[in-house]
Amino acid sequence: MPELSTAMLTELSTKIKEWALELGFQQCGITDCDLHAEQAHYEQWIERGYHGEMGYLNNHLDKRFSADSLLPGTQRVICVRMDYLPPETHAINVLDDGSSAYISRYTLGRDYHKLIRKRLTQLGKRIENEVGESVFRAFVDSAPILERPLAEKAGIGWRGKHTLILNRHAGSMFFLGELLIDLPLPIDPPTAEEHCGNCTACLDVCPTQAFPQPHLLDARRCISYLTIELSGSIPEELRSKMGNRIFGCDDCQLICPWNRFADFTNETDFHPRQKLDKQELIELFSWDEATFLKKTEGSAIRRTGHIGWLRNIAVALGNSKGGNEVIQALEDKLNHDSDIVREHASWAIEQLKSTKNVNVLPIQQHPRRPKINL
Ligand code: SF4
Ligand code: SF4
Repeated sequence: MPELSTAMLTELSTKIKEWALELGFQQCGITDCDLHAEQAHYEQWIERGYHGEMGYLNNHLDKRFSADSLLPGTQRVICVRMDYLPPETHAINVLDDGSSAYISRYTLGRDYHKLIRKRLTQLGKRIENEVGESVFRAFVDSAPILERPLAEKAGIGWRGKHTLILNRHAGSMFFLGELLIDLPLPIDPPTAEEHCGNCTACLDVCPTQAFPQPHLLDARRCISYLTIELSGSIPEELRSKMGNRIFGCDDCQLICPWNRFADFTNETDFHPRQKLDKQELIELFSWDEATFLKKTEGSAIRRTGHIGWLRNIAVALGNSKGGNEVIQALEDKLNHDSDIVREHASWAIEQLKSTKNVNVLPIQQHPRRPKINL
C-alpha cells in the first residue's frame, strides 16, 4: 500500500464519492471495520432462532463483527446505495387484485448481485489506478457482511423499526453494497438520528406479525423468508396471511411514509421482465420447470426453485377468489411428483371451499395506505 498524506486521502475520498455517482450509485459513505457494538444484538437474534433455516447466518460469527477478517489488511469499508424501484409497477393495485401475483419490487428485473458487484469492482479499479496499488474486494448481500450496520455507520441512513436502512431523501427501496479496501480513508459520520418517531406503521401492517418488537424481525414469520428461504412446507397458520405474495413481500416498506421519497431506478436491468409486475397467478402456475427456468434466467427468482414457485403460487391461489379455472389448475397439481406441491395444492382447494370472503390483509385497510404508485 502506498504512503498517502492526510490531504491526499481526503481528496481521494471526495473523488471516490464522485466516481460512485458516475458508476450509477446514488450514495456513498466510508466507515471503519469495527462492528463489535452489534455483536450482542446479533447473537441474541440467532439464539432466539429468529433466523429460521438460514443456518449460514450462524456461520463465521467471528468474521461478522470485523470486516478486516474477511480481507486481511482492510482498513475501510466503502458503502454504497443503489435505488431499485422500477417506475409504474403499481404495487398497491397488484396487492388489491387477488388474481395477480405480487413479486417483491426488488426482484422484478435482472438479479442485482452481478450488476452491483461489477460496478463496485470498477470503483475499486479506479481507486487502484489513482493510488498505484491497493487491495480491495466487493460484496453484495453477502452472508458474512453485516451490511445494514455498516451502511448506518457510513451515514447512508438509519435503521428503521422494520430493520431496513432508511434515508430521509430516498426511503428504503435500495440495494446496498460494500467495497473493502486497505486505504486509511477519512471516515464519514454515521446518520446522526433516526426519524421513525412514534410511527409504528410497518409493525402494524405486517400481515404475519413478524416483528416481536421494533427493530427485531422474526424471519420465520416473514413472507420473504417463507417464499424464498424456506425449503419445505409453509406453516399452515401463516398461509392465509400471505395473500397473493408469491416471492417476497414489501408491505412494511410500502406503508412507510419515508418511501414517498423513494426515487425510481435509472437501471433498465431492474425494470420488470416477463411482465412479472402484473402476471396472473393462474398463468404463472402453468409454467412447467423448463418454462420456469427459461423465464427466470438471470433473475433472483430462480432461488426459490420450481417446487418452491408452485408451492407459493398454490398458497396465493388458495387465498384468491377461486373459480372453476383455479380449482381445476390446483386439482391438476394433486398428482405432481413433489409432495410439497401436492400438499399445498390440496390446502388451497380446501381453503377455497371453506372461505366465503377473501382475507383482507392489514395494508389494504391501513389509514396510511400509500396513494402514490409505489
Ligand atoms: S416483508 Fe412483509 S412479512 Fe416480512 S416483515 Fe415486512 S411486512 Fe412483514
Ligand atoms: S413505517 Fe414508520 S416506524 Fe416503520 S420504518 Fe417507516 S417511519 Fe419507521
